[in-house]
Amino acid sequence: MEAFVTSLPSMQCYVIRGLPIIRQGDDIASLVNSLFDFQDGDVLCLASTIVAKSEGRFRKLESYSPTTRAKEIANQIGKDPRFVQAVLDESVDVLLDKPFLLVRTRFGHIGVNAGIDQSNVGDGRILLLPEDPGKSARLLRERLDRDCAVIITDTCGRPFRFGVAGVAIGWAGMAAVRDWRGQRDLHGKALEITLEAVTDEMAAAANLLMGEAGDGTPAVVLRGLSYPRAGEDSVFMPEEIDVIRPLLRR
Ligand code: GDP
Ligand code: MN
Ligand code: MN
Repeated sequence: MEAFVTSLPSMQCYVIRGLPIIRQGDDIASLVNSLFDFQDGDVLCLASTIVAKSEGRFRKLESYSPTTRAKEIANQIGKDPRFVQAVLDESVDVLLDKPFLLVRTRFGHIGVNAGIDQSNVGDGRILLLPEDPGKSARLLRERLDRDCAVIITDTCGRPFRFGVAGVAIGWAGMAAVRDWRGQRDLHGKALEITLEAVTDEMAAAANLLMGEAGDGTPAVVLRGLSYPRAGEDSVFMPEEIDVIRPLLRR
């Protein structure tokens, strides 16, 4: 029985404790190196919030002068027009402007309010997402003590489903999806279209341990997983093959 149990795939999840409130310029890589004993193959998941803070992505609402369009949208959805302007400034495409702002960021992620946060930020300020979370992940990964993958997460709502969950908005040292195509199912039939979003699954697991409020735990390490290491792939679906986006625009 013992042998059976230990031969099952498993993973360990570690919350890194002791991170301070992050400020612009803080060196997250050396902070986590000093707080956690990494092993090769670990996956370090970091809440986008702390990466954005270290990159100085704080803004003051007063620094935005809303355009007529921002004011119109703000009026429709009951938001501060300066906040709406901040969202528009971070967007390359607006998919919905009511009943909430659903936009695409420059780096390809589609999210409500461009992922701009007002919680865990501090008074009178907003926090933009990292400018290029993939690049942030690559830079952080290079500076870890071991050969680890890095995932930058954000908590997002999902279409068709209640409740928020963690998703990956940047990653390095691993492929974003696992390709099961060609593998056999239980009955010998080859799988045809199964891409598994392993980065998002790991982000969701990590987000579960991070918490959303004053927990102060923005870093989680996943250990024991086998995951696809290489690839220039993405979880962001290109518009040309997206069947939902054209319907939203109608
Ligand atoms: P998001 O999902 O990236 O938008 O981040 P959240 O605001 O949901 O925060 C995720 C976790 O990180 C929560 O446990 C927060 O308390 C924690 N957190 C946010 N900012 C900081 C910080 O500056 N320092 C520390 N130690 N924890 C933080
Ligand atoms: Mn967020
Ligand atoms: Mn969160």
